[in-house]
Amino acid sequence: MGAARVTDLTARARAWSRAEVEPGVNDPAPSATVLRQRIASAAAHGFLGVQVPQALGGLGLPFSAKLALGEALAQVDFGSAMAVLNTHNVAEQLARLWPQSTAAPWVRAIVSGERVACTALTEPEAGSDFAAIQTRATRTAAGWQLDGQKTWIINACYADLVVVYAQTDPQRGAAGIGAFLVEAQRPGFHRVSEQPLGTVPTLGVGGFRLEGYVCPAEAVVSPPGEAFKDILHAINGARTYVAAMCCGMVESCLQIAAEYGQSRHTFGKPLMGHQGWRWALAQASVDLAAARLLVGQAAAHIDAEADAQVSAAQAKIFATGMAQTHIAKLLHAMGAEGLHAHHPFTRHLQAVQAATFTDGATEMLLERVARQFNRPSNAP
Ligand SMILES: Cc1cc2nc3c(=O)[nH]c(=O)nc-3n(C[C@H](O)[C@H](O)[C@H](O)COP(=O)(O)OP(=O)(O)OC[C@H]3O[C@@H](n4cnc5c(N)ncnc54)[C@H](O)[C@@H]3O)c2cc1C
Repeated sequence: MGAARVTDLTARARAWSRAEVEPGVNDPAPSATVLRQRIASAAAHGFLGVQVPQALGGLGLPFSAKLALGEALAQVDFGSAMAVLNTHNVAEQLARLWPQSTAAPWVRAIVSGERVACTALTEPEAGSDFAAIQTRATRTAAGWQLDGQKTWIINACYADLVVVYAQTDPQRGAAGIGAFLVEAQRPGFHRVSEQPLGTVPTLGVGGFRLEGYVCPAEAVVSPPGEAFKDILHAINGARTYVAAMCCGMVESCLQIAAEYGQSRHTFGKPLMGHQGWRWALAQASVDLAAARLLVGQAAAHIDAEADAQVSAAQAKIFATGMAQTHIAKLLHAMGAEGLHAHHPFTRHLQAVQAATFTDGATEMLLERVARQFNRPSNAP
């Protein structure tokens, strides 16, 4: 039953991407209105509530279903896939951390596409070193006042709701960080721009400043002492689905190259007839299968609520590197044809470079994997 629902979900995701995303995917500067309409359309298909309990309007499926959705969407466009999952994740987080009666109106608004959401950790002066964030949360009689700046946030060029991570007590370091639900239309929220920052425009990446932004005490999503742990837990899921999206991008390039190899002839035979040519495709399929096994291992850990820190890091390190290598090689196998904008090769290449940064740059993930060897006796 569960497997059939996931198959149905991914089939609908592929059809939706082809119909709704692909036609405008090369627009270098989509407007906030276009990006918002796309999220609303995704909501109508249930994509924003995959992991959200049915009692709150979601589909109540496990993490691996969201992962399958992400991979299917990314075959056409990594940016739209990430935009969908990033707004989804806020609904899932509120449903998980807040009492049902408090969470319900917010979660329903996100799942229905009425309000778009995002998650903001990164700042101009703090990316990999997340514990160094400088956005301050100060207690007031009414709740909390937030001041600071966030950048490189998916959906932030048009989102209505943001889970903002802010420091409540610099003396406490990571333990002082709390998470707060911020509403973009309230005083004190200043969007940097309604145009997406460069790179993959459909990500809707943007930034904002908080100046004297006041929120009620109930807006605490995760209190100091818990928020840092929560984000480290959630980020394993993000690393795993980003790895799956990289697999999706390689899969789509592989299919296109295999088809082209049958029809394009050189030296009297199809490209596929040349051993040296088809080995590029064979090697891509071998490495893609290996990446999928790592993704499957991490997803199984997450579904089972087991420790996925190492397996998620391994999956993302391998899948991003695999995609960087093979999308470039598959483009090369297409000859100049691969450069055409109606093919996804150049778009996917740029997306994969962005994927190496989102939810932890590769070096941070290698550090996470290395930590298992760095027991006290090995410490420098
Ligand atoms: C497209 C895109 C979307 C994003 N979306 C979001 C989002 O929705 N929300 C959000 O909060 N953030 C988001 N980010 C930010 C992302 O999490 C950061 O880019 C990432 O954490 C890396 O931080 P940085 O870019 O500031 O690089 P830095 O931390 O400045 O690092 C620069 C380089 O040095 C390397 N490096 C840093 N420290 C070390 C070290 N100790 N040892 C070895 N190498 C090191 C890094 O790996 C990197 O290659 C997004 C980024 C991109 C590109």
